[in-house]
Amino acid sequence: MSLAGKVVIVTGASSGIGASAAESFAKQGSKVVIVGRNEANLKATEAACKAANSKVELLVIAADVTTNAEKIINSTIERFGQLDVLVNNAGVGEMGSILDIDVDQFDRIMNINVRSVFLLTKYAAPHLIKTQGNIVNVSSVAGLRSFPGASVYCTSKAALDQFTRCIALDLAPKNVRVNAVNPGVIVTEFHKRLGMSAEDYAKYLEHSKSTHALGRVGEPKEVADAILYFASDSSSFITGATLPIDGGKHAMCPR
Ligand code: NDP
Repeated sequence: MSLAGKVVIVTGASSGIGASAAESFAKQGSKVVIVGRNEANLKATEAACKAANSKVELLVIAADVTTNAEKIINSTIERFGQLDVLVNNAGVGEMGSILDIDVDQFDRIMNINVRSVFLLTKYAAPHLIKTQGNIVNVSSVAGLRSFPGASVYCTSKAALDQFTRCIALDLAPKNVRVNAVNPGVIVTEFHKRLGMSAEDYAKYLEHSKSTHALGRVGEPKEVADAILYFASDSSSFITGATLPIDGGKHAMCPR
């Protein structure tokens, strides 16, 4: 499908990868539903989408995906009458060894990274069947590989990968495709929200050059390009896939 005129929901569009994806969809002429919690940042994404395409039709929804999944889908249908693409991108990380973390971390992360995706998918599916649309989930290399001190985040993204495959099979008979992208380290607010200082973040990005085979970290646009690929007809025979967008990080094994 050409993305022009398609109705696309992007969650977590107020920052980083989601903001870049929203802008890229706007550039293609899609009608974009921008979802996030931070209203000032949503306005910045709205402005970037309009700068990319002055004629773009936008719906801005300030909402928490954990509590407003049904509202997000219903508002989209009320405004645009259909839904073609759901991009489940909103997500958070938290760190800590199993010796230190408590069950609240598990509940918080699973609630945002997995449960909200389940709800959005459930409410979106009947509309995607009508349009023969598709879903793109934003997972992580942490879904494919294991990292110390990140058990809950890794588990949430592995669950998202498995959910992607299972829903791909559920919806394949209806010709609705479901795929995921698995980014490596991408320069966004993500790591700062983990509590890293500016200095630690700079060190982490430097260190990441050695953990990514291509010798560098990624930019949000590089993930957005893959999201648009899965959302478009260019990937018409691909479903249930988890695609690393990580400069080869998933293929590396320290020795
Ligand atoms: P950012 O922190 O820059 O953006 C995260 C986005 O998620 C924000 O728009 C935020 O909205 C939104 N969000 C978080 N929780 C909620 C919630 N409960 N309800 C609504 N929106 C929410 O990080 P990224 O852009 O990097 O992250 C996007 C996705 O990419 C995540 O799923 C992350 O796990 C994944 N990823 C990121 C990597 C990286 O290195 N950056 C690597 C691998 C995966 P708001 O600020 O408005 O609350």
